Amino acid sequence: MLSWLVARRACLTHEVLRRKGKIIVSWCSLCGNAAETNQHLFLHCNFTTQIWAIFLSITKTNWTMPEHTADLLSYSIRRGGSKSQKAWWRIIPHCIWWTVWKERNSRNFEDRSNSIQKVKWDCIASFYFGVKRKV
Ligand SMILES: [Zn+2]
Repeated sequence: MLSWLVARRACLTHEVLRRKGKIIVSWCSLCGNAAETNQHLFLHCNFTTQIWAIFLSITKTNWTMPEHTADLLSYSIRRGGSKSQKAWWRIIPHCIWWTVWKERNSRNFEDRSNSIQKVKWDCIASFYFGVKRKV
C-alpha cells in the first residue's frame, strides 16, 4: 500500500534512490523549487499543500503540517471529531498521497502534466468514492 511506503519513507522518491546509491539530480516535478524528498513531495510542496488546504477547509481542521509523513498519519488516525470526520481522516491522507504520486509519475515518466485544478478534482473524486465505499 502506497501510504505505508510514504509513512516509512520507502516510496521511490529521488531521496530514496539517492540513499540506494543512484546518482540523480533531484528536482521536484510538481513545483520545481526543491529537491524531491518524501516530506517535500507528500507534505510541504506548494502543489501538494494546495490539495491539503481543500481537505483542511472541508473538515474545518486547523493544524500545523507535521514535519514527517508518519506523524501526519498518526495525527489523522488519532484525530477527534464526529464519527464521519474520523472516517474521513482515515481516507484523506491516502487520497492525497495517491493523487500526488500519480501526478509525479505522470510528469516524470510520461512527460504529461495536469493542471492543479484537474489534480484537485481527481483527489476529491477519489475521496468521494473512498467514502462511498465505506458507507
Ligand atoms: Zn515541490
